Amino acid sequence: MKVFITRRFPQEGMKILTEATGVCEVSQWDSDEPIPRSELLKGVQGAHGLLCLLSDKIDAEVLDAAGPNLKVISTMSVGFDHLALEEIKKRGIRVGYTPDVLTDATAELTVALLLATARRLPEGVEEVKKGGWSSWKPLWLCGYGLSGSTVGVIGLGRIGMAIAQRLLPFGVKRLLYTGRTAKAHGAEVNGEFVPLDELVSESDFIVVSCSLTPETQGLCDKAFFSKMKKTAVFINSSRGAVVNQEDLYEALSRGQIAAAGLDVTTPEPLPTSHPLLTLKNCVVLPHIGSATYSTRGVMSALTAQNLLGGLQGSDMPSELSF
Ligand code: NAP
Repeated sequence: MKVFITRRFPQEGMKILTEATGVCEVSQWDSDEPIPRSELLKGVQGAHGLLCLLSDKIDAEVLDAAGPNLKVISTMSVGFDHLALEEIKKRGIRVGYTPDVLTDATAELTVALLLATARRLPEGVEEVKKGGWSSWKPLWLCGYGLSGSTVGVIGLGRIGMAIAQRLLPFGVKRLLYTGRTAKAHGAEVNGEFVPLDELVSESDFIVVSCSLTPETQGLCDKAFFSKMKKTAVFINSSRGAVVNQEDLYEALSRGQIAAAGLDVTTPEPLPTSHPLLTLKNCVVLPHIGSATYSTRGVMSALTAQNLLGGLQGSDMPSELSF
């Protein structure tokens, strides 16, 4: 069966596919850079399996280009907002994804981003390099601490929960969370399930870790930021489109909120001319939540196993139900 891979892929996953002799014949966009749309439409033709990344938009056009052979799409991500699920379902195609294996790495990165933003680490590093460090000064480079604070988590799912578990030992006083339903596991982090408005107005730190859906798209907008405390820090490691970036820029530049840390943006990469990058109180990372060597290896292996399961009509270790 024909398999098309949309990018250069970690060895752990490649090994599993190349050892599956007799099952699949692999072709690949052999580059670290995203596949151009025209190449994707060409490469996927006649494929039985498609292995893709979150940067590949898999819509009706791609599915039509693939044709009726396509049995399985395996994405090397836990997010699946890049997949047109309705179209995929119509065609009876199975989907594999990579939950759990990236939870720890993403939660760790989110905590690092929160601390870097709240304690102004990039600014501090920059000042040292450019000679702005003249002496120890009582009022210089002060930020905000977690001890005694209220943290609000939007989306207490796998990653939201792992973030909460990591933040609690810093002395967080109250842990609020919101989502569509209260979670039994919320009790493990003394979480209080509250309406979004209450979370936004009472939190000193807001961490967004929900999935991107039509409901969460643009959730963090002008009205949202206007309800936040002036001293509050906003962190997003979910998907860029959850945030209205123009509204975030206004809130940050007018001092309506203290600071923001983003691991995800719209678009990605964020153009170097983007206004958010002119602000000292905005820390932007290049979507590196799951980027540890071991996590990427495990993600790639799981993606390959999901693909093989789908090709062979057997169990996939992590099949998306939709
Ligand atoms: P998950 O376990 O499915 O959690 C998703 C959470 O989103 C759930 O708790 C869900 O709450 C919540 N949610 C859905 N709709 C909501 C709404 N309208 N308002 C508030 N919360 C809502 O997924 P996960 O494994 O934690 O991953 C979460 C997301 O993180 C992924 O979808 C992906 O976009 C992102 N991610 C980013 C990186 C990175 O590198 N930065 C890495 C991995 C994942 P309910 O159950 O109550 O609906």
